Amino acid sequence: MAKPSKVDFLVVGAGVAGLRAAVELARHGEVLVVTKESLGESNTHYAQGGIAVAMEGDEDIALHVDDTVNAGDGLVYRPAAEALASEGPLRVAELIEWGANFDRESGAAGQFLRTREGAHSRPRILHASGDATGAEISRALADYARVHKRIRFAEWTRVSALLCGDGRVIGAELASAEPARTALRAAGRRPVRAHHRVAARSILIAAGGAGQVYSDTTNPAVATGDGIALAAQLGLPKDGTSCEGQRAGAELADMEFYQFHPTALAVTGAPRFLVSEALRGEGAYLRNGRGERFMERYDARLELAPRDVVARAIAREMLADPSAPPGAANPATRTVYLDMRHVRDIDILARFPGISAFLAQYGLDLRRDLIPVGPAAHYLMGGIRTDLGGRTSIAGLYAAGEAACTGVHGANRLASNSLLEGLVFGARAAQAMLSDSLPLVAVESAGPAPKHVTAREAKQIETLAAALRASMWAHAGLLRDESALRQGLVDEAACTSALAKIAATGHTSRRLSEAQSLCQAARAILVSALARTESRGAHFRNDFPRRDDKRFRKHSVLGSDGRVRFEAW
Ligand SMILES: Cc1cc2nc3c(=O)[nH]c(=O)nc-3n(C[C@H](O)[C@H](O)[C@H](O)COP(=O)(O)OP(=O)(O)OC[C@H]3O[C@@H](n4cnc5c(N)ncnc54)[C@H](O)[C@@H]3O)c2cc1C
Repeated sequence: MAKPSKVDFLVVGAGVAGLRAAVELARHGEVLVVTKESLGESNTHYAQGGIAVAMEGDEDIALHVDDTVNAGDGLVYRPAAEALASEGPLRVAELIEWGANFDRESGAAGQFLRTREGAHSRPRILHASGDATGAEISRALADYARVHKRIRFAEWTRVSALLCGDGRVIGAELASAEPARTALRAAGRRPVRAHHRVAARSILIAAGGAGQVYSDTTNPAVATGDGIALAAQLGLPKDGTSCEGQRAGAELADMEFYQFHPTALAVTGAPRFLVSEALRGEGAYLRNGRGERFMERYDARLELAPRDVVARAIAREMLADPSAPPGAANPATRTVYLDMRHVRDIDILARFPGISAFLAQYGLDLRRDLIPVGPAAHYLMGGIRTDLGGRTSIAGLYAAGEAACTGVHGANRLASNSLLEGLVFGARAAQAMLSDSLPLVAVESAGPAPKHVTAREAKQIETLAAALRASMWAHAGLLRDESALRQGLVDEAACTSALAKIAATGHTSRRLSEAQSLCQAARAILVSALARTESRGAHFRNDFPRRDDKRFRKHSVLGSDGRVRFEAW
C-alpha cells in the first residue's frame, strides 16, 4: 500500500492490543497500523496457554479480580483489575463472534474447555488448538481488521520517532524495510519510501514488551521495547527534528517488575522456547537434579504458586548449593525438570500439540521424558504509565497492552491475564482517543533518507546488544542486589555511548535503533530496581529480601528527568 501522509489514528503494533484498538478506532476514522515485521510476528502470536476470562457471572468476576490482586503482591491498581475482569467477558465474546475458535468439549457446539494456571482459584483459561491461543487470537483479529476499509496496514515498517507540535504528539516518522518495498515492486506497485512521515490526530503505542533486553527470553526478536523508548525519549534532542519544543518524555511506571517465566526449555543450542504453565495446570511436577519434587519447600500451592515464587524456587534449585544464604557466590550448575510422565487422564499430544512438536525436534517427549527447564524473561509488568483510558502523560500519545502500565498486574502478572489486557485496554484506549478527539496538525515532510550503517558498524551493534543483554541477565535478573544493579548501569552506559557514536555518523538501521531502545529499557529497569530497596513480586533483592509495605506499597514512576519517585495508586 502507498502510505498516507496523514491519518486519523496511527497504531504502533499489530499484537492483540493494537489490532483490537484498530477495530474500535475504524468505526470513526481512518486507521494506519504499523508493524515492524509481518502481521503475525508479535508476542501475541506466540502466546500458548490461553486467555483468562470470568464467564460465570458476578461471583466469578469478583474472584478473578481477587486472584489478580493477590498475584500482584500488594501493588495491583484495583480499578484496573476490576475493568479487566468485568469487561473481559464482553471482549472475549466479541472475539468469538469475529471468528476466534477456542477449544470446546466435543466439537463446535460443546462447552468451552477451561484450564487452570498458577494462582488462579478456578479453571477459567480458554485455549485454542491446545497450545496455540495467541496465534488464533492474532489470526481472528487480523482477518477481521483486514476486511475493514478504514484500516490500512504497513507491515515491515517501523516507527522510528514521534513528532511533536503544539505541546503534543502530532505524528510519527516511519522507516520501511526492504521486504515491504520488494513486495510492492513484485505486485507492480510503486514502492513505498524508505523514510516517511505521517500526521495523526492521536497515536497509540501498542508495541509490546522488551524481553530482548535479557539474553534469556521467551520473547521474539521484535520485542525490543521500542514503544517504551519512543515515549520516554520524547523531547530528547535526538536528531533535531523530533518533538522540538516538547520538554518532557512520557512517564514510565513499575519498570523494575519483569516477570521471569519459570519454565522455558533449557537445552543447549535450543531457543528458550516456552513450556507453558498450562502443563502444570494439567498436573506436571517440577523436579530437581536429584529427582525430588521441591516446590513444597517453597509454597503450599506447589507447582501452581505464582510465577515469581516458582521462578525463584527453580533458580535456587539450580544453584550449586540451594541452601546458601542470598548473595553468597553460588553458581547455577544444576538442572531442573518438568515431569508429565505420570499424567494419564489427558491425551498429552492432543492437548499440547505445538509444544510436543517443538520438543520432538530435540528428541524429547512429554509422555516419556523429563524436560529440562529454567526461568527466562517473559513479560514486562511496567511500561508507559497510563490511566484506564490508555492516556499517557503526553497529550496525543496513548498506550495499551504490554507496552503500557495501568497497574493492572501490580508486581506480578496473573497467568494468562495479558491477552485479556490487550483486548480490554486496547478497546479502552481507542475509546479515549475517540472521545478526546484531537485535531490533525500537519507535519513537515521527511528529509532525505539517512544512510544505512556500514557492515563494520552493523557488526559492532550486534556485539554491543549481545553484551547488554548478557549484562542484564547477570545483573538485573531474578536475584538482584545493589552492586550487581550498579554494574548493570555501568554496562548500559557503555553501550549507550558506543551506540551514540555510531548514530552521530548520521547512519541508521533497524538494529541500531532497536539496540538504543534496549539500552533505554535497560536503564529504566535498572534505576527502578535500584530505587526499590525491598523485595516484592517479580523484583527480588538479595540485599533487601523482605517486603516493606510502609515505604514501598507504591508504584515507581520514572520521570523524564531520569529520577524515580514512588506514588500510591
Ligand atoms: C512465548 C509466549 C507465551 C505467552 N503466553 C501467554 C498466554 O498464554 N496468555 C497470555 O495472556 N499471555 C501470554 N503471553 C504474553 C502475551 O502474549 C503478551 O503480553 C501480549 O500478547 C502482548 O500483546 P501486545 O499487543 O501488547 O504486544 P505484541 O503482541 O508483542 O505486539 C507488539 C507489536 O508491536 C510491533 N512493534 C514493536 N516495535 C515497533 C516499532 N518500532 N514500529 C512498529 N511496530 C513495532 C511488533 O512488530 C508487534 O506487531 C505470552 C508471551 C510469550 C512471548
